[in-house]
Amino acid sequence: MSPVERARSAAAGWAARTVEERAALLRPLAGRLADDAERLADLIHDENGKPRSEAMTHDVVASIVLTRWVTEAAPRALATRSVATPGQPHRRATVVRRPYGVVVAITPWNIPLMIPLSSVLPALLAGNVVVLKPSELTPNTGAALAAHLDALGLPEGVFQLVQGDGAVGAALVDAQPDKVVFTGSVPTGRRVMAACARFPIPVTLELGGVDALIVRADADLELAASAIAWGATFNGGQACCSVERVLVHVDVYGKLLARVTEKLGRIDPRADLGPAVDDRQRGVWSTHLADARARGLVAAGGDWLGPRTLAPTLVAGEGVLDCVAWREETFGPIVAAAPYRSDDEAVALHDGTPYGLTASVFGRDVSAATALARRLRAGAVAVNEVAATVYAHPQLPWGGVGASGFGRSHGEAGLLDLTWPQVIDTPRLPHEPKPLWGYPYDDVQERALLAVGHAFARPAPRTVLRAARAVGRLLTHRPRL
Ligand code: NAD
Repeated sequence: MSPVERARSAAAGWAARTVEERAALLRPLAGRLADDAERLADLIHDENGKPRSEAMTHDVVASIVLTRWVTEAAPRALATRSVATPGQPHRRATVVRRPYGVVVAITPWNIPLMIPLSSVLPALLAGNVVVLKPSELTPNTGAALAAHLDALGLPEGVFQLVQGDGAVGAALVDAQPDKVVFTGSVPTGRRVMAACARFPIPVTLELGGVDALIVRADADLELAASAIAWGATFNGGQACCSVERVLVHVDVYGKLLARVTEKLGRIDPRADLGPAVDDRQRGVWSTHLADARARGLVAAGGDWLGPRTLAPTLVAGEGVLDCVAWREETFGPIVAAAPYRSDDEAVALHDGTPYGLTASVFGRDVSAATALARRLRAGAVAVNEVAATVYAHPQLPWGGVGASGFGRSHGEAGLLDLTWPQVIDTPRLPHEPKPLWGYPYDDVQERALLAVGHAFARPAPRTVLRAARAVGRLLTHRPRL
């Protein structure tokens, strides 16, 4: 039996449980992760290369917080809701959240515990059964997560781990699950979506970005420079939401870049900087660096400090907008900076790529910075903070627009994303009253319904009374077919 078939045989039993029952079974995971935190952080650090403190915070602690919140929030978020339907007051409509069935989750290596967990846990809570394929670069972290889930005593087939590369992921999609949740690069996301389109299977795509940080003229430059230094280099720059582009108001451009250069130079490569995860990733950094160098735009850094460790690198100067590092995701510790003159120009430059995952705006006038934030085409925008931090708060929906994908993980939206809404429409009265519309069609019916339309368009005693009279005439006039 294939993993998708095995999952399918467990789907009905799991969906039949209440969300409270599922949450009660899954909630102890938070304690298990906390008890195993030191070993998990070591494992992630060894396997992925990121600094241990990032493994501990971005993966382990974030996973504990997510587990706690989502297992508590799920019953409320997924509860059946009544919806008023004024057009038929004699009936009761409810919207029930139904699980898709078999969910295949395919995840990347860069946040190898938290991303798989944030795909798997909401799916299980929503009543789906899940097959997880973690990245081939972080199989041990995937296996550690699976061991913790297995230890919770989930029924056979409700959660399964499948290890392997892209071909294994493609085979899981070919097996026609009921929903695919994919986190990874834009090119692979396109392939996964095309594969899903054949059946079709709904797909959530959490893809990459070239996220920007905007520094307004009134910004606290010290704060902004620190944010750029961290935002561009944490996780070795290998985060979907890392700062890849900086837009600086022309009045403070020189001052800001001087501070950024100074701060990038003070990052300790041994303690704070992760290496490229593999040679393929190193190759991407190398290409983007060579392109900037050929244009004479490497303003700071640019040296290899180890086989796969690149010094934090600033790319700036005339022509930076043509650099590969400006236009495409580097997924490394390279940040490109350009000046802008007005908020309108900042918006145009920000939105001038197909991506839209996160953005950050820095300015002392928080209202003006917030007004700018609201104009940007990005799934999450933070003011006076690096937007990557939004990911740490599982209450907030996470996801992008444009080439950065669609659908959401985290937040109520993330739970709803793993369900489909089913309307259940039932009678309130013991006997169904005569219907207002149906055969035979005639003028009396048409006029009565138009009167109802007028009452909806301009609710007022006069229009409502007219509609009530017309409906009364209709009910007495009409024989039912
Ligand atoms: P990737 O696209 O190379 O691989 C992601 C996953 O897809 C892996 O498990 C891989 O084995 C699998 N895969 C590859 N080809 C496949 C196919 N044809 N069918 C099915 N599965 C296939 O990405 P990566 O290098 O692992 O991760 C880095 C990318 O992920 C970056 O672009 C980053 O921005 C993005 N990312 C996005 C988010 C987000 O929340 N939006 C979070 C983390 C990473």
